[in-house]
Amino acid sequence: MREKVTVCEVGPRDGLQMAKTRMDTATKIAWITAMAEAGVPEIEVGSFVPPKLIPTMADTDEVTRAAVRLPGVLIVALAPNLRGAQNAYEAGAHRISVPVSVSEGHSRANLNRTPDEQIAEVAKMIAWVREQPRRMEVETACSTAFGCSIDGVVPTASVVRVAAALAAAGADMVTLADTVGYGHPAQIKEVVRAVQAEIGSKLDGLHLHDTMGLGIANALAGLEVGVRNFDAALAGLGGCPFAPGASGNIVTEDLVFMLESMGFESGINLDALIACRRYLAEGLPNEARHGHVPQAGIPKTFRALAA
Ligand code: ZN
Repeated sequence: MREKVTVCEVGPRDGLQMAKTRMDTATKIAWITAMAEAGVPEIEVGSFVPPKLIPTMADTDEVTRAAVRLPGVLIVALAPNLRGAQNAYEAGAHRISVPVSVSEGHSRANLNRTPDEQIAEVAKMIAWVREQPRRMEVETACSTAFGCSIDGVVPTASVVRVAAALAAAGADMVTLADTVGYGHPAQIKEVVRAVQAEIGSKLDGLHLHDTMGLGIANALAGLEVGVRNFDAALAGLGGCPFAPGASGNIVTEDLVFMLESMGFESGINLDALIACRRYLAEGLPNEARHGHVPQAGIPKTFRALAA
């Protein structure tokens, strides 16, 4: 039995929210369907925010309703507030991901709230979600956990404080996000260990960006300290508004290649995953598509998948 690692594909949310053009809804749903068929176990399909804030997310309701009908895949939607959580619930999302910035500057810029005000909003959201007849998981993501483009250094103690508050508020899981991609491997280990010491296995995953080219190295650092859930985006889609030219999240194809090569089980068929890039070529022809493995091709040495 190989040890499992869960990859959550966040391209339809994190990747598309920065896109200069809009992918049409039908292509988005076809892309999500193809990724589910490739064995991707979790997909974050959109963001329940007002369309005037992020126009590329205007079809999140329709996309979520279609995605939750796909068999065998857990559908996640981002929800920044109670209204978003209610809309995600109505659309049938299996899990919401709620961003909570650790740094004051990012929190005000992104959510127009202080970190403590957002933690209070999370508590309200969890209370509402728990009253509903259907179970919906609440994941909370500590944004800017490894550095902030506005505030600079984010102290580990601040990350621990926010993570502990979210765990205490009843979040099902807490993830740490390198929102701007400033983290390095030694830092990943230090912060993950510090948060694990405080909230144990409620620390569930890492959300990494490849701004400085350290994304995969940071994922490996996380693996080495016990993290078994990683967000990634097909073709490293997206970017960071504060780092022009940077790629977005770590590349799903490269992450899966590393995990499977190392003997972990992702459940994802790498050939089928790489084939999903055609939806990006069709739906977003002007966006850069990153990834070493898709460019080089899967080598003969790659361990064959049972699928
Ligand atoms: Zn992100």
